[in-house]
Amino acid sequence: MSARDGFSHPVELPAPDLSRWADSPTGVPYVHERVGSPDGPQVLIAALVHGNEYSGAIALDAFLTSGLLPRAGRITAVFCNVAAFGRFDARKPDASRFIDEDFNRVWGDSLHSGTSAERVRARQILPFVQRATHVLDLHSMHEPAPPLLVTGLLPRNIAFAQTLQLPAQVIIDSGHDDGVRLRDHGPFADPAGQRIALLLEAGQHWQASSLQVARNTLMRFLMAAGSLTRNDVPAGWLQPDALPPPPVHVTHRVVAQAMDFAFTQAFTGGEVIAHAGTVIAHDAGQPVLTPYDDCVLVMPSVRQLRVGVTTVRFGRVVHATLE
Ligand SMILES: [Zn+2]
Repeated sequence: MSARDGFSHPVELPAPDLSRWADSPTGVPYVHERVGSPDGPQVLIAALVHGNEYSGAIALDAFLTSGLLPRAGRITAVFCNVAAFGRFDARKPDASRFIDEDFNRVWGDSLHSGTSAERVRARQILPFVQRATHVLDLHSMHEPAPPLLVTGLLPRNIAFAQTLQLPAQVIIDSGHDDGVRLRDHGPFADPAGQRIALLLEAGQHWQASSLQVARNTLMRFLMAAGSLTRNDVPAGWLQPDALPPPPVHVTHRVVAQAMDFAFTQAFTGGEVIAHAGTVIAHDAGQPVLTPYDDCVLVMPSVRQLRVGVTTVRFGRVVHATLE
């Protein structure tokens, strides 16, 4: 069965009540700061960039409620697309990803024009993004799959991701043709810069395990950024240290050409397809072929299928040490 048959995954995690974060001393609704000292890392944690991906919002809500303060610098917690989240309906859980357009495609030069709900909200958040030295963007996935840390192409982000001792697969990718992601915004994509930005795909949106992954990643990111020490982390938030698998470098994105796009099997992501030229899907009456041997499938899904939407990425395992 596909998304178009109306199937959606069970909602194990109830949607959180975030209403107490609407009013904020920052002057921007649902944006809150925790300040340890004037100097030090300026860490921004983003949740709800996609309105139905709230495991990260539950983790961020718990962080704000805990009273934890950074040892140094500032932690800014941002619940991003709260308008879309406000439309979440557990009977139609896939419907509230965004209002007018994908919030994670508006962070390019055109951010200052347009009046979509997402662009208006992104411009409210922009000053906080611009001052950040570190950004962690908490997402989750349409289909159940092991967690991923998406780094972009810059070696500093790949290296930072690999220090976190998370069991997440590091995914090295260049972003989307249809718009710029928050984690690729301006200075975060500058090869000469020092700013760090990672995107977590914690697992399926509403699985209880995705909340554990989001909490563990949030705390490890804050430790690696220098905001917290391991002793600061509340009991139960950290999972055991893990050795991540080798990174996967995304080389191709498959974009749906027609609404009849269909995979040949129920791929979940992480499959390694041994032979180049293997048919993994059909689209607009044509076979979709793997481009090389040992091709890794990354985040296959037709749940948000539209013409022009990414349905799967192809990647290669990177065995060499990255400098
Ligand atoms: Zn997302």
